[in-house]
Amino acid sequence: MRNKILFGNWKMNKTNAEALEFANGLSDLVELASSHNVVLGIAPSYLALETLKKHTSGIVIASQNVHYLDHGAYTGEISVPMLKEIGINASIIGHSERRTYDNETNEKCHLKIVRLLQENMIPLYCVGETLEQFENGLTKEVVEEQIRIGLNNLDSADVSKIIIAYEPVWSIGTGKNASVEIAREVISFIRNVVEDMYGLNVANSIHILYGGSVKPENIDSYLLNDDIDGALVGGASLTKESFSLLLKKII
Ligand code: PEP
Repeated sequence: MRNKILFGNWKMNKTNAEALEFANGLSDLVELASSHNVVLGIAPSYLALETLKKHTSGIVIASQNVHYLDHGAYTGEISVPMLKEIGINASIIGHSERRTYDNETNEKCHLKIVRLLQENMIPLYCVGETLEQFENGLTKEVVEEQIRIGLNNLDSADVSKIIIAYEPVWSIGTGKNASVEIAREVISFIRNVVEDMYGLNVANSIHILYGGSVKPENIDSYLLNDDIDGALVGGASLTKESFSLLLKKII
């Protein structure tokens, strides 16, 4: 049985001081999560990665992006060795905001996933369709392409280390969450694609989260469902109160 995962994506929010303030007093929450076999994760801004890493334990601290090359003339980017040096072992890849604003293609996501897996790090790979694609009935086609390119030609032993997040773009930060039925249907479709690529055992062990306007008021309806292994949460992960309510609703 797969354990549940609650992952916060802070996006471009919180200074170092605010991240430190969040980290202080987090240990009760971490203990509660681990006693219920729930994995907690937070992806802060780059500047707060080291702060959170130093001042928390028992929680996965992830970057919101990473480059697939280790160094070079790529202004504004960070690399896998930079993350490793400060003890970070996970990164979000292909978040829709990066796909939209930073030309993050499926092919680039694939290179990033490969680089992270080479270092035994965890890629949290985001997939999902835009509103226009959703309205045109293209959800499965879009998501299948994202999965097939992103996860192409990997060592099957590595694939179960990847966490996939299904995040319909039209539901991120809009307050319009996808219904549980849609989330479940697309997530089980993703699992079928993974099965087709890597077999049943890998498909049964890979974690697939839902993300998009998840709040304490709606998280339980998603996570009561065995197909959905957890949530990637933006806005509602920003205060300790709300993050802890999210956790309490899923344990
Ligand atoms: C996200 O940033 O991945 C996200 C799901 O945001 P929100 O929860 O605010 O919709």
